[in-house]
Amino acid sequence: MKLDATDLRYITSDEFRVLTACEMGSKNHEVVPLSLITQISGLRNGGVNKLIGSLAKRNLVSRVQNAKYDGYRLTYGGYDYLAMRAMSKRDTMTSVGNQIGVGKESDIYIVSNQEGDEMVLKLHRLGRVSFRTIKQNRDYLGKRKSASWMYMSRLAAQKEYAFMKILHEHGFPVPTPIDQVRHTILMEFIDAYPLRQVSEVENPGKLYSSLMDIIVRFAQAGLIHGDYNEFNILIRRDTGEPIVIDFPQMVSTSHANAEWYFNRDVECIRRFFRRRFRYESAFYPKFKRTMSDGKSDFKLDIAVEASGFAKKDLKALEEYLEAAREEEGEEGSSDEEDSDGSEEEGDAEEDEEIVEEEVIEESEEEAGSGDDTEKEGEPRQQ
Ligand code: ADP
Ligand code: MG
Repeated sequence: MKLDATDLRYITSDEFRVLTACEMGSKNHEVVPLSLITQISGLRNGGVNKLIGSLAKRNLVSRVQNAKYDGYRLTYGGYDYLAMRAMSKRDTMTSVGNQIGVGKESDIYIVSNQEGDEMVLKLHRLGRVSFRTIKQNRDYLGKRKSASWMYMSRLAAQKEYAFMKILHEHGFPVPTPIDQVRHTILMEFIDAYPLRQVSEVENPGKLYSSLMDIIVRFAQAGLIHGDYNEFNILIRRDTGEPIVIDFPQMVSTSHANAEWYFNRDVECIRRFFRRRFRYESAFYPKFKRTMSDGKSDFKLDIAVEASGFAKKDLKALEEYLEAAREEEGEEGSSDEEDSDGSEEEGDAEEDEEIVEEEVIEESEEEAGSGDDTEKEGEPRQQ
């Protein structure tokens, strides 16, 4: 989805009122009746008609005719607009540049502030795809189904920001968090390649150890990343150091399935190193040992929990993200086949994914290897 940066400046204050009214109305209406929008906005009837028409033309709201009444729905574009406008009012960002990532669950843009500093804006897009697993098995949204995409996307952004902040404060290698509004996060731009695009490293053993060290440090501080793979690890262009991103699914080490999440993270790295760098080590962290060795006197999981998230909200988000991942196919991040084809994962199930993988491989080869690999807006897997 293209963001229109010019729109950011040229919306009238009445249009803004109507848009905000539509957002407020969508908290308990899937389709917000025009009469409610008018009432909340406090503007005249005829005026609202015209204003909502112009918002619809710019795809900030969409008109929905249903059996009971006609009304409007806030679009992702409208929600993006409201978030970016709030940030621009606070002067944390003032202009939008290129999109650098697009995935099932987020869009990533380069943006900047008045000083011209580049930053990354991540817009969460939960609920864009409706997952079969969720539809069949889960009913956690209850009556809130109406605003589920807004609710889940906002929750994901809030949780991600809370984790990024606390990790950053405790010296973990993560981007500096800058601002958070609605379903968006503003953070430091890392000049890096995703590990996924790195075909050679000078010392795979060293990188492997530092990645495993991070897993151990996370766990000793009470946390498991939960999606620790080559898409969510960036390798700094200048120093080659790893930076970890993407935190909406982080779980506490006191989670009932903590060990399973921990092992999955460890296994993702082991498998990637085996396939990509032909590197395998007998040493890798074990959950119980890591926890009993834990010297850390701070517990970040408790700190984040104390920062105001309702347990049921976190549970809802966790179930959503886990279901999304199941739907996508376990470890959609699979790399090249082993030469002996002895890998245990059933990667071949996903025909579509494989086609995508092949395209990526080709473009990587064209771009050369190692440091010459361009960071491109390839379709993201995770
Ligand atoms: P998603 O939740 O959709 O997986 P991520 O947070 O993993 O989103 O970001 C997707 C991609 O965007 C990353 O793989 C990376 O290429 C790029 N990206 C995200 N955050 C940053 C950042 N702070 N600096 C540079 N690139 C980033
Ligand atoms: Mg990611």
